[in-house]
Amino acid sequence: LASRDFHPEDTVIDIRGVKIGGENLVIMGGPCAVESPEQIDEIARLVKAAGGQVLRGGAFKPRTGPYSFQGVGVEGLTMMAEAGRRHGLLTITEVMTPEYVDVCAEHADILQVGTRNMQNFDLLRKLGTCGRPVLLKRGFSATYDELLNAAEYILAGGNRDVMLCERGIRTFETYTRNTLDLTAIPVLQSLSHLPVISDPSHGTGRRELVEPMSKASVAAGANGLIIEMHTDPDNSMTGDGVQSLFPDQFANLLRDLEKLAPLV
Ligand code: PEP
Ligand code: MN
Repeated sequence: LASRDFHPEDTVIDIRGVKIGGENLVIMGGPCAVESPEQIDEIARLVKAAGGQVLRGGAFKPRTGPYSFQGVGVEGLTMMAEAGRRHGLLTITEVMTPEYVDVCAEHADILQVGTRNMQNFDLLRKLGTCGRPVLLKRGFSATYDELLNAAEYILAGGNRDVMLCERGIRTFETYTRNTLDLTAIPVLQSLSHLPVISDPSHGTGRRELVEPMSKASVAAGANGLIIEMHTDPDNSMTGDGVQSLFPDQFANLLRDLEKLAPLV
């Protein structure tokens, strides 16, 4: 079902008038984690003002160690939904377990599967019937074929609104957090009709690389970007402040991107 052979035209996912796929460029921006109502509201305002369409933010965080901040949980979902509503943005949040799919689907417009859960098949099956579009991140050691097969689990359940996300893979290079595989963008688009979103934040792990790799992703044909932005990155509650743009950098980037592709 994910294959171009099955469905030759690009899939365009329409979420309340925001069209993802085809010619438009969708921008998802926001913090790694929802921290407080004030934090997410202020960031939502800035995402909207810069021209973004989707507010990102994790309420459930997949942390490498069990003692790190794990996210604010269900309360974060309501904080983010409220901020999205107030500022006229769609919302995207990560869901980590099948049990939380329903509550996340109730509060968010798009559900995100993180890199660590790309092959959590029970989660993928549940997302097949969740009634919301899904952004499926590539596992950091997954091949294109494995990513497409993971998407197939969601599609096979009846949910045809799936976006693929390149978020960087594990290589021998340690300067960057991950290696953003730009080649994935045209390859996935040739193999599949599904929209392809690039995540230059996790793909590099370094703030100064987000701008060039965002532009490179768009030049390679990405249908959208998911970018971390924070009003106070140095004091953010996850370690991802180092890769989060400051609000003015985010706004300047979107201004430049508009010259490369029309924002939705
Ligand atoms: C995130 O988007 O904050 C995240 C945890 O992403 P990934 O699953 O790509 O590491
Ligand atoms: Mn993050």
